[in-house]
This record gives sequence, C-alpha cells and structure tokens, in this order.
Amino acid sequence: MSDCLFCKIAAGEIPSKKIYEDDLVFAFYDIDPQAPVHYLVIPKQHIPSCAAITPENSAVVARCFEVIASTAKQLGISEFRVVSNCGKQAGQSVDHLHFHVLSGRDMTWPPG
Ligand code: 5GP
Ligand code: ZN
Repeated sequence: MSDCLFCKIAAGEIPSKKIYEDDLVFAFYDIDPQAPVHYLVIPKQHIPSCAAITPENSAVVARCFEVIASTAKQLGISEFRVVSNCGKQAGQSVDHLHFHVLSGRDMTWPPG
C-alpha cells in the first residue's frame, strides 16, 4: 500500500534499525522503545490489523511468529511479551499489522 509507513519501512524506502528480513517478513526496532528490548515484526504484505487476518493471508502471520521465535533467540531473550494492538481503542496507531516484542523488564498484568 503506497501510503503506509510500515509498507515503506519493509520496502527500505524509510530507514529503520533492521533486525531480520526475508521475502515475507521484516523485523526492526521500535523508534520509541517501551522496554529495554522493543522491536516490531511485520508482514511485508499490507494487512491492516489482526482483524483482517483470513485463511488467504494467515500463512504470513504464522511466518511472523516463526520470526518472533528466531529473532528472540538471535537477540538472546528467552522471556518476552508479544502484543498486537487492534483498533484505536486498543492503542493501534499504525494501520499495518505488527507484533511488538518487548523484553528486559518486569511486565504487569493486566496491560493498561
Ligand atoms: P501501535 O501503536 O500501532 O501498536 O504501534 C506502532 C509502533 O510503531 C509504536 O510503538 C511506534 O513507536 C512505532 N513507530 C511509529 N513510527 C515509527 C517509525 O517511523 N519507525 C519505527 N522504527 N517505529 C515507528
Ligand atoms: Zn502497509
């Protein structure tokens, strides 16, 4: 999608601190970290949010979770939280599916 920040980051048109990339998935550090380790894993394909996952596009979501596991291992973190905000009330500010990976501090539950 031409007007999407994360499509542009995945395409390398906007710079980011990249952790991992393959043909389907891109992982990069969040610009405003909320934990000592905070990065985002996104599909390169434009999917607006978790609410738009379907049988036709869910393979790339599974791939995102494989990358979450492999990048966590690569970064040496074994305890972490995965978050995907879906919709404004839930805190979504970028309308391209992304999974936050947060680690390196105690987490509270329930989340705010
Ligand atoms: P959301 O608020 O949609 O759950 O998460 C969007 C995340 O993207 C936020 O944590 C925000 O800090 C991050 N973000 C927004 N713009 C940029 C950017 O240009 N580069 C990077 N690396 N992260 C960004
Ligand atoms: Zn997009």
